[in-house]
Amino acid sequence: MISPADYELRVEHRHEPFADEETVVWHITRAGKFTSVCDQLLSPVAATVPMNQIETVPPEALCPECSGWYRAILEGG
Ligand SMILES: [Zn+2]
Repeated sequence: MISPADYELRVEHRHEPFADEETVVWHITRAGKFTSVCDQLLSPVAATVPMNQIETVPPEALCPECSGWYRAILEGG
């Protein structure tokens, strides 16, 4: 069974071509791992946030795939 405690949020800094500012996207990974549930390889030195503090991440900065996966396991019990 999947427990949210086994997971954490890891940030991705996306550098879009031709954009002045980088985009920040928060993905969900297994704790201590660098590949998100949406299959992005993230930096080992990227900032992380525990899953129980997901409310501290702005919803618009959450990866839609990762947050959809997370909602699904919460609803699935
Ligand atoms: Zn993701």
